[in-house]
Amino acid sequence: GYRARSAYKLKQLDEEAGLFGPGNTVVDLGAAPGGWLQVAAEAVGPQGRVVGVDLQRIKPLDDHDVVETIRGDMTDEETRARITELVGEEGADVVVSDMAPNMTGEYSLDHARSVHLARQAFETAMVVLATGGDLAVKVFDGRDLADLREEMEGEFQYVRSIRPDASRDASSELYLVGKHRITAPVRTGD
Ligand code: SAM
Repeated sequence: GYRARSAYKLKQLDEEAGLFGPGNTVVDLGAAPGGWLQVAAEAVGPQGRVVGVDLQRIKPLDDHDVVETIRGDMTDEETRARITELVGEEGADVVVSDMAPNMTGEYSLDHARSVHLARQAFETAMVVLATGGDLAVKVFDGRDLADLREEMEGEFQYVRSIRPDASRDASSELYLVGKHRITAPVRTGD
């Protein structure tokens, strides 16, 4: 079994958008407790790599030769640097983010925080995702979504929004999926 029901959302995203292939390197942001890590590890197989990042500690997985984890805050620049270093020169084939803010119940605030996290994921992808790679990022629907989508459209061949059946109960949640990055990774540091 999977550690989280959200595993089925990632399976559905993969079926609809064709995210993963054998041997891929995947970066999973907001990865605790690890359901998506399990799905991604299965999909990339023994030649692949999956790097999971979360504020929370992630208990080691059985696929520990494929999955590596980083405990860190994605709003902290240093975490992005740690990911880039771990992934290495070739970059990632896929970046996924299931990050969500702590819910306050105030819709506009939860939406704004969710878009902020989605933007962190997008900016991280712009550093670590190889040309041709894909990005799937969770965001709560609302006002600021159009701007983020437009920015993504400038970086990918096309962008789709997908609402997996498995997330129907959380009706405002959707995933923006950017397919086939057309730009080159942003170089940082030096
Ligand atoms: N996809 C995961 C799975 O299948 O097990 C579930 C992810 S859960 C819906 C959202 C996660 O985002 C939480 O574990 C939370 O700690 C993480 N998160 C929220 N804000 C974050 C941040 N700033 N940096 C890193 N992780 C964050």
